Amino acid sequence: MNKRINLVLILAVAMTSAFAQINLKTGLKSENMDLTQNPGDNFYEYANGGWVKAHPLSPEYARFGTFNELDELNRKRIKELIQELALERHEKGSIGQKIADLFNLAMDSARRNREGNTPVMKEYKNILAISSREAWLVNAALLGRQGVGNFFGVYVGADDKNSSQNIVNIFQSGLTLGQKDYYLENDSATQKIREAYKKYIVTLFKLMGESCDVAQANMETVLRVETAVAKISRSRTELRDPQKNYNKMTYVELLQKYPAIDWNLFFRTLGYPAFNEVIVGQPEFIEGVSKLFRETSLDDLKTYMAFQLLTDASGLLSDDFRNANFDFFGRVMSGKEEDTPLWKRSVSVVNSVLGEAVGKMYTEKYFPAAAKERMTQLVKNLQVALGERIDAQKWMSKETKQRAHEKLSTFYVKIGYPNKWKNYDKLDIDPSLSYYDNLQRASIFAMEDMIQKKVNKPVDRDEWYMTPQTVNAYYNPTTNEICFPAGILQYPFFDMEADDAFNYGAIGVVIGHEMTHGFDDNGRQYDKDGNLKDWWTPADAEGFKARAKVLSDFFSNINVLPDLKANGELTLGENLADHGGLNVSFKAFQNAMKSNPLKKVDGLTPEQRFFIAYAGVWAGNIRDEEIRNLTKRDPHALGLWRVNGALPHIDAWYKAFNVTKKNKLFLPKEKRVQVW
Ligand SMILES: [Zn+2]
Repeated sequence: MNKRINLVLILAVAMTSAFAQINLKTGLKSENMDLTQNPGDNFYEYANGGWVKAHPLSPEYARFGTFNELDELNRKRIKELIQELALERHEKGSIGQKIADLFNLAMDSARRNREGNTPVMKEYKNILAISSREAWLVNAALLGRQGVGNFFGVYVGADDKNSSQNIVNIFQSGLTLGQKDYYLENDSATQKIREAYKKYIVTLFKLMGESCDVAQANMETVLRVETAVAKISRSRTELRDPQKNYNKMTYVELLQKYPAIDWNLFFRTLGYPAFNEVIVGQPEFIEGVSKLFRETSLDDLKTYMAFQLLTDASGLLSDDFRNANFDFFGRVMSGKEEDTPLWKRSVSVVNSVLGEAVGKMYTEKYFPAAAKERMTQLVKNLQVALGERIDAQKWMSKETKQRAHEKLSTFYVKIGYPNKWKNYDKLDIDPSLSYYDNLQRASIFAMEDMIQKKVNKPVDRDEWYMTPQTVNAYYNPTTNEICFPAGILQYPFFDMEADDAFNYGAIGVVIGHEMTHGFDDNGRQYDKDGNLKDWWTPADAEGFKARAKVLSDFFSNINVLPDLKANGELTLGENLADHGGLNVSFKAFQNAMKSNPLKKVDGLTPEQRFFIAYAGVWAGNIRDEEIRNLTKRDPHALGLWRVNGALPHIDAWYKAFNVTKKNKLFLPKEKRVQVW
């Protein structure tokens, strides 16, 4: 049990009310709820109203929920671990030296202010001196090693149709604003963002010493080039189709199909060894970018590249760069009022550059073996329940059910931390160099590590795609794995001292959610071996699609702002996962109650407590700008709708709270999604 939870419990006892005593066992806190609300009218407010009122947004946050509360706790713990190291002397090249020096570099904003634009000036001038398209491409590859964006991106990962083997992937990229809508739509909110973006571009060029006229002209060029890229880009929703993203070809075919780009030169500069096959995620995009590359003047290409360099660096340079970056990405895009404090940003950077080294220290101190045991048992119980749910589906044939069972029984489960830790020997952190230079080194290290371990190599199933201290979980279709890092195995998701109603409602639904990703509209297209291979009978596939459509239509009808609707198609996979997660965990909870029945506590039945614990995970406050931002790019529904949108489709929730057609959240049975 962690220190903070003990503290909360002690305070609760000190309050001496009968309810507080009961809280010890249920894991619920009455002060987080709003008992004046009718659960059938607004379940989110009923379960979370107290928490929402007690946690108004602080200026540094665009959204703050119980997830972030746990994040904050983790960050404080990690800061303590790092600061302990920073006080000691370390041998050059040791993990301690790397963590301590990187943290100190990140904290030294005075030094960055003295250095001004110097750390990035050499690369900026290199771009201005480029005199041919070949030289431009070489520079794009060199910058790509440092993580600077370009028209297209390259990574090495599992081959979707031969999942035990890695393959090189080329995918669409090149948009600083992330989504094409920002360049192409003309509603007033989008226009406002675009105007602020223009100012941001001008500011960065001026900070490099360019005149107002040059900065203004450069801005127009950047916007023109990015708008052209936006026009040939797939939307985020279109990118969810794995079959459409799978266009495998030989390396020779790549050279023949897109000759405007000298791929040999590009991959050689990136440091890739020779390889025979490649997947082009979006062929029409690469076709379009080839044309753009041929037809855009070299000067314009250079201006575009220079801006990519500057926007990538801006958060890591002096305060004037950092403020420009925050004013646009923080204030305008998200509605934040203040930048994240320097120490938090510094912890985050160390956490991302040396994630598993930090994770090792973190789990040694904060992840008890007992938590892993209980989690392992919970996962097993959820697996059994999902099997029962699969069997109970009336619309599915025996044949498809059989395959679904095979997939379920071969889930690869990861809990807490990896079996083997990442090696950082080749990463050199040198405090005599600038912060920016060191972070470039870190990006190059990560890129070289990927190339060396993955090009022409089999997939390592033991690789973790999140660090152990992360407050999150994932399902990866190509390895058919579910992963629950130590970071999420804490309150309000998991509480060793709380009863089953709480833990099945919170972490149980998270487990069920990740498992259901294996059977959502995307995950269901992968088989038990992680291959993109259809294992459904045509009738069952149609049955699934028709059922899933009920959910996407339902969410597409939700107004997240007066002038903005949710995107039911973009969020379908996540909403299906929430739906399955709730049903499966509730089933597992019922199974557990057979041998360990729970009683009503303080007027709440165990079933009611299950749903209140679930809702508690999604308590949060959010700014309107961030609602707009997330609705455009986030495949998850907003917290409010993960409660008030998900629960009206769960039969057991109606029964638990006696919700009837008189209630606002009521949906007639035929309008509820019936899947998993
Ligand atoms: Zn998910």
